[in-house]
Amino acid sequence: MSKIIALNDLYENELEEFIIDLGLKKFRADQIYRAIFSKNIKTIDEITQISEYDREILKEKSYIRNLKILEVFTSKIDKTKKMLYLLEDNTLIEGVLMEYKHGYTLCVSTQVGCRMGCSFCASTVNGMERNLYPSEIVSQINEVEDYFDIRISNVVLMGSGEPLDNFDNVIKALRILNSEKGRNLSMRSFTLSTCGVAEKIVKFGEEIPQAGLAISVHSFKDEIRSEMMPVNRKYNIDYLFREIREYAKLTGNRISIEYTVIPGKNDTDEDIRLFKKYLNNLNYIVNLIALNPINEYNKIDYRQSAKIFKDKLDKNNINCTLRRELGSDISASCGQLKKYYLEEGGLSELQSSNACGSCSKK
Ligand code: SF4
Repeated sequence: MSKIIALNDLYENELEEFIIDLGLKKFRADQIYRAIFSKNIKTIDEITQISEYDREILKEKSYIRNLKILEVFTSKIDKTKKMLYLLEDNTLIEGVLMEYKHGYTLCVSTQVGCRMGCSFCASTVNGMERNLYPSEIVSQINEVEDYFDIRISNVVLMGSGEPLDNFDNVIKALRILNSEKGRNLSMRSFTLSTCGVAEKIVKFGEEIPQAGLAISVHSFKDEIRSEMMPVNRKYNIDYLFREIREYAKLTGNRISIEYTVIPGKNDTDEDIRLFKKYLNNLNYIVNLIALNPINEYNKIDYRQSAKIFKDKLDKNNINCTLRRELGSDISASCGQLKKYYLEEGGLSELQSSNACGSCSKK
């Protein structure tokens, strides 16, 4: 046992095995687990439920993996906050905190960078640096709750990274967050968003059937979708929807279909026909997303185009909503904060940038 273990990467049974190997009493696992996950403690010294002697033994072989909030941007329009987190290896990830009538929703990251290559996303520019550990996924919730003194009611896995590409760590993090001795967040409070890693969708439904699923579709035409989202070359739209139907049958869940309206590209009559074809007999909701609002360089009013397309979908009985844009003045959708931080050496340059907006990850 020479490796240093991060205690907050372990399930309770793994923690039990670990401390028994260290020569500590088995029942200490319960105290340590509760201390780590029901509070947001940073060091083993803070586990005061066990003796100093036991803490010293623990410290020889383990530690608690931390992350910290480096910067926070608050929207002046609404109360949306965007956070930049610093990880222990000095890498950066992002998150978004949204306040709704029913409570707070936190958008969390699952990887440092991303290898999926979606054409509209800043997170993928430098590829995938590494997967997040379960503790780093869990700590995003703990840190934000402590920092703002709030309780999060919903968690959406829509930050940087493709959650199904870090499958095991994501499942472990959700189980830890759900644990009664830990944060005790309901499985129903989680929504996983994928760009379409089709082969893992049913598996996700088998592991956590109560959690929600959102799919970034953006086009039902393979040529257009492959151009925007290279994952479509591996799992084309027919394959993707076969897996989605299988998942829906297994879980009974309603599927969220994320669709950014790009005038002239994916809002034609043919596109409406494809909505009907692929969504027929499926329990779904389409979330339409407008590209970034009008700015001085671009005179197209994308929100208006999205509204027009929504009307057409309504007339065709497609169940859809047009997403309310939150935090538009701190734009910085997925990957933008990090990009500015690294390129500008700080965030002061960050303005209402023309961030992608086409990403479902806002
Ligand atoms: S949109 Fe999501 S899946 Fe696509 S590159 Fe960005 S982080 Fe990855």
